[in-house]
Amino acid sequence: MPHFFTDRRGGSSLGVYESLNLALHVGDDPDLVAANRAHIAPAQFMNQVHGDQIVIIDSVTAETPICDGLITTKPSVPLVVMVADCIPLLLISKEAVGAIHVGRAGLVNQIALKAVRTMRTLGAIDVHAILGPSICGKCYEVPLQLQQEVMQEHPRAFATTRKGTPALDLSAALISELLSVGVSFEASPICTLEDQMYFSHRRQNPTGRFAGVVSL
Ligand SMILES: [Zn+2]
Repeated sequence: MPHFFTDRRGGSSLGVYESLNLALHVGDDPDLVAANRAHIAPAQFMNQVHGDQIVIIDSVTAETPICDGLITTKPSVPLVVMVADCIPLLLISKEAVGAIHVGRAGLVNQIALKAVRTMRTLGAIDVHAILGPSICGKCYEVPLQLQQEVMQEHPRAFATTRKGTPALDLSAALISELLSVGVSFEASPICTLEDQMYFSHRRQNPTGRFAGVVSL
């Protein structure tokens, strides 16, 4: 199951998008984004909206479905999830793979569990999760009320910043959720806000998006 995560290096974009920005919706020059996307083409992109919709695809098309998860059971159909602090979640199995966008909204609406269920419906047996670089629990500061809201369903999301203010650890909560449904995992230790090699919406806005890519 080939998979990888891009970083900021090797692209054509300039300024706040320097250099391998893969997103068309963030204000970058579309021609440069197209050149950047060519580095990982052909691959299926989606129009991510922090929802819980998942689309099953059989081939790469120029259409970008409005969804936050792509799944395929076909070989050689690379799926792309774009992020800049959210978790790029790649789900792999021998029978199906998925690329899932998991931010705070995605954690709350349980898109990852929905994706695992969908993959199992499609025949996936042993599902393994790969969590790419994302903002860490010490950096993702949120208002106390928001922290409390998320923790009602996801107690493992509890975190505090280095200065002691309320924060959320989305990866810890997601891992707990995945383990509860029998999915094994590996998680990148990289924090996108702390590591300049990655786009971070919290560090800079506007900015670009990097990607997780997976294929069967
Ligand atoms: Zn951090």
